[in-house]
Parts: sequence; C-alpha cells; structure tokens
Amino acid sequence: MFSPCTRNLILSSQLRRFQSTLIIAEHNNEALTAVTQNTLSAAKKIGGEVSVLVAGTKCGPAAEAISKAGGVSKVLVAESDAFKGFTPESLTPLVLATQKQFNFTHILAPATAFGKALLPRVAAKLDVSPITDIIGVKDANTFIRTIYAGNAVLTLEAKDPIKVITVRGTAFPPEPLEGGSGAVEKAPDGSYKSDLVEWVSQELTKSDRPELTSAKNIVSGGRGLKSGDNFKLLYDLADKLNAAVGASRAAVDAGFVPNDLQIGQTGKIVAPNLYIAVGISGAIQHLAGMKDSKTIVAINKDPEAPIFQVSDLGLVADLFKAVPELTSKL
Ligand SMILES: Cc1cc2nc3c(=O)[nH]c(=O)nc-3n(C[C@H](O)[C@H](O)[C@H](O)COP(=O)(O)OP(=O)(O)OC[C@H]3O[C@@H](n4cnc5c(N)ncnc54)[C@H](O)[C@@H]3O)c2cc1C
Repeated sequence: MFSPCTRNLILSSQLRRFQSTLIIAEHNNEALTAVTQNTLSAAKKIGGEVSVLVAGTKCGPAAEAISKAGGVSKVLVAESDAFKGFTPESLTPLVLATQKQFNFTHILAPATAFGKALLPRVAAKLDVSPITDIIGVKDANTFIRTIYAGNAVLTLEAKDPIKVITVRGTAFPPEPLEGGSGAVEKAPDGSYKSDLVEWVSQELTKSDRPELTSAKNIVSGGRGLKSGDNFKLLYDLADKLNAAVGASRAAVDAGFVPNDLQIGQTGKIVAPNLYIAVGISGAIQHLAGMKDSKTIVAINKDPEAPIFQVSDLGLVADLFKAVPELTSKL
C-alpha cells in the first residue's frame, strides 16, 4: 500500500496527465504575435499537455514557429479563406470542433482584441463562464485577476469542467520559440465560413516604431501636452530611446493622437522596462494600464500629481522645457 503522501503525489501527477490545454494562437499568418508566447507561458504554469490551434489562410510559417517552442506537444493547423480577417464568427465553430475531438480541460487565448472577441463566444457555446485577463495561475483551477480597474486583486477558483481563459500577456514572461518539436497536424475539417459576417479589408497603421504592447521603452503624453502638434516633443524623445509613444485617454479624447495609442483601463495594458509619463496626472484608470512597468519616470509641473506616487523617478518641471532638454542630452 502507498502512504497518503505518495498517493497524493500519484493522484496529482495523474490529474496533470488528464489535463490538456488548447491555446488559440494570434498571428498574421507569417509570424506569431509575441503575446502568443506569453500565453504559452501561462499554459505551462497550468500544467498538462499543451496544444496550439493556428487558423489562418496561409499560416504555415506561424504554425512552424510555435511548433518549435518547448512544451508544445501538438500544433493543429486550419487553413481556409473562411479565416481571412480572423473573425470570431468563423473561428468559433473551428474551436468548438477541435474541442469536441480532443476534450481539452483548458482553452486559452491572449487578452487582446483577438482573444477578447473570440473566447467569450466559445465559452457561451460551451455553457461555461469565461475567465478573463488573468495575471497569475495558482493551480489548474485557481487563477488571479484584477478587478475595480486594477485596485483589487482577486483569486478565483473555477468549477466549470472546461476553463476558457484570456491571458494578460504582460503578466507572464514570453516562452522562447526553441527547444521543442511539437507535431504539426491538421485541425478538424469543416465548413467554417460564417453567414453573419464577411471580412472585406483592413487598413493597418504603418509605423517604424516598436508596437506599444511589446515595446521595451514607452514615452507617453497626457493633456498637459496641450495639442497634437506638441506630441512632436515626445516623438523626438522616443526616437532617441527607440521607444513607442502612448497617451492618456484625455489626450486621445482631445484629439491630440489616435485612440490606438491609449494606455489604461479602456486602452492598452503595457509593462515596458521604462515608462516615461509626460503631463499625465496619474488617474487610476491610467495607472491600471501601466503600473507594472519596471521603471516609471514622471514629468509633471504639479508636485501633488498622483503619478508621483507610483513613479521611481519624478521631475517636477514644465514639460515644454524639460523634455527638449532631456532629448538633447541623450
Ligand atoms: C470608465 C473610465 C475609463 C477610463 N479609461 C482610461 C484609460 O484607459 N486611460 C486613461 O489614461 N484614462 C482613462 N480614463 C480617464 C481618467 O480618469 C483621466 O481623466 C485621464 O487619465 C486624465 O488624463 P491626463 O492625465 O492626461 O489629464 P489630466 O488629468 O488633465 O492631467 C494633466 C496633467 O498634466 C500636467 N501638466 C499640465 N501642463 C503641464 C506642463 N506644462 N508641464 C508639465 N506638466 C503639465 C498637470 O499638472 C496634470 O497633472 C477613464 C475614465 C473612466 C471614467
């Protein structure tokens, strides 16, 4: 007979064996979006076998890239014109068919516009609660997420048989795309073209700057900049630091910059090595999107501005003087 301790060990290793996770890869057919690697890291924390579903039009390169990541046992590939534009209406039936065939215990996607559009739909079809934007994994059933705009941290135990989860990329390190050799197989066949939507075209912003959510350095501006033209000061500084440029919602609402630059509760969540907040007061909704940055620098003329409470380095100064000075010294 086994001792209780040994029995528990055997039981937990059997549980891990029965556990299996499906990650829905985010990619542009040619390459994975970096956040897929962070999602893989969350899946590995959950434990058990990890498979990745790569659906697209000619997505061979993306599938091959993820098959090389350590810990990926299988990559399921679905290629069809139905997946043009990666609409949730066409991807949902594919995810459901894949789930029917393999019975995963966990289905994960990044908490990006892609994952946020797809997984609640999948969860509804599976009649389970989606678990959104997790920032930590305690065990296979217990997850950590923030509530009240990041002011409280919640630990939740999920009782649903299938856990459908979106993952906050900045909360998990990226898993390298090396060291593994997952089998590449075909995903279940089917007719996935949706009658509800048709993808027509897309116009993507072209920029030589790093993408905001994966940038190592970010220079961000708020209402204190006073106009869109004045953002040039930030672009000049960003060029010196190879940084992305972000903004507060007040700056976006005032029309200084487009809304894809917005950082915060209703914008993008970022966690770069360096975040320079210029003319931003530090409202909780803004902090919700950037307070996990490694080093926060604030430039604000008001010494009482709340941003100074979360900043590692603070400069009480007029930004119109301080920013050009800083740029010229770099
Ligand atoms: C539901 C909800 C969701 C929201 N989501 C977001 C979100 O996602 N992101 C977000 O950012 N906000 C969000 N907000 C808005 C948020 O509450 C604040 O209104 C906003 O963040 C303020 O932006 P700001 O700091 O640029 O502007 P202000 O609060 O007006 O601050 C401007 C700062 O600039 C400083 N300043 C002015 N002139 C100078 C100068 N010459 N030199 C130096 N400093 C100067 C001032 O001292 C001040 O601190 C949300 C609000 C709600 C209700």
